[in-house]
Amino acid sequence: MPLIIDNTFATPVNCRPIEWGADIVTHSTTKYMDGHGSAVGGCIVDSGKFDWSRYPEKFAGLCTPDDSYHGITYVEKFGLEGAFITKCTAQLMRDFGCTQSPQSAYLLGLGLESLHVRMQRHCENALAVATFLKNHEKISWVRYPGLEGDRYYELSQKYMPNGTCGVISFGVKGGRSAAERFMKELKLGAIETHVADARTCCLHPASATHRQMNDEELLAAGVSADLVRYSCGIENKDDLIADIADALEKV
Ligand SMILES: *Cc1c(COP(=O)(O)O)cnc(C)c1O
Repeated sequence: MPLIIDNTFATPVNCRPIEWGADIVTHSTTKYMDGHGSAVGGCIVDSGKFDWSRYPEKFAGLCTPDDSYHGITYVEKFGLEGAFITKCTAQLMRDFGCTQSPQSAYLLGLGLESLHVRMQRHCENALAVATFLKNHEKISWVRYPGLEGDRYYELSQKYMPNGTCGVISFGVKGGRSAAERFMKELKLGAIETHVADARTCCLHPASATHRQMNDEELLAAGVSADLVRYSCGIENKDDLIADIADALEKV
């Protein structure tokens, strides 16, 4: 089985999964890479190390002739380095049409130039916000791998010593209704399904993306009814904290 890592949140600035043994890395470039949600996109980075030819029955698409492409067999024609990624472009991109427009590629290129600066700020803001939340009496729990004491803190220090990302999740005491009230009272953080953006975005899954689930199903999915996902943008951290403090006061 190839190890595939979705590195959208950490970005290559904070984590380089192939150096840790990942076979394939994917990114939604719509998020931090673009930075402003201005162009939808994604990318696949193939390490070229996974040996598909050892499991031809599992990876028939790479190990048997492709009739739709002159009968070539990808592993034979392009080797380990090229088989997977060539199939992605030559066949899947051709058939599904998921090719980025020049304008979108241009916008992504602009975003990438400031990614390393923005990521530092996202991480700095998130750590400050997570620390504030952890010490707040109206917050029952906080999850942020960059926060000391988090269950993933040690792993984050190993794989992402310079910072993780700007996305935090936490529970508001009082559950579903308290979380909804909190969200409505925010003035700086915008209610959005989008995440990992220059602007602070927040989401209450139980009343938005996951609203078709009952409380039991939510728990099974690891998304409790009190959970708020808060994606710190690159605003001033004191402004973010003041906004959160004001909103919590009204809960
Ligand atoms: C948004 C997101 C995706 C999907 O990306 P799209 O650009 O919306 O298709 C995948 N992984 C993560 C972690 C995301 O946040």
